[in-house]
Amino acid sequence: MSHHTGARQSDAHNTLKLTTFACAWCGLTVSATTADGVPRDHCPSCLHSQHVTDHVEGGPSPCHGRMSPIAIAVLRTGDWRVIHRCVRCDELTSSPVRTDDNQLILMRMAVRPLAQPPFPLEAFGSL
Ligand SMILES: [Zn+2]
Ligand SMILES: [Zn+2]
Repeated sequence: MSHHTGARQSDAHNTLKLTTFACAWCGLTVSATTADGVPRDHCPSCLHSQHVTDHVEGGPSPCHGRMSPIAIAVLRTGDWRVIHRCVRCDELTSSPVRTDDNQLILMRMAVRPLAQPPFPLEAFGSL
């Protein structure tokens, strides 16, 4: 009897492990799905991800490097995606922004090119 109870507990533990992951950057325990059940692959707090999917070949990647959020891309549909770069192998990936992602970091990445233009802004003053 007690043996059965023990087995059931370890099953529940395994299920819990599959649906959460620890953020490779800030250590936050992240649920692998959002509150409305949408799967996610990056930390909603710091937006870092981990290189566990091989986006070129498909399937799991052996890399497991940390992926830093480097930019925002806006699709034709208006949806935002976070561009990640793997710190270990430099692979670039993009993943959809989720509703509970850190909006301050998202906005900071979105305006960064405007804050640091590769040409002098004074040019606009004389137009
Ligand atoms: Zn994090
Ligand atoms: Zn990698």
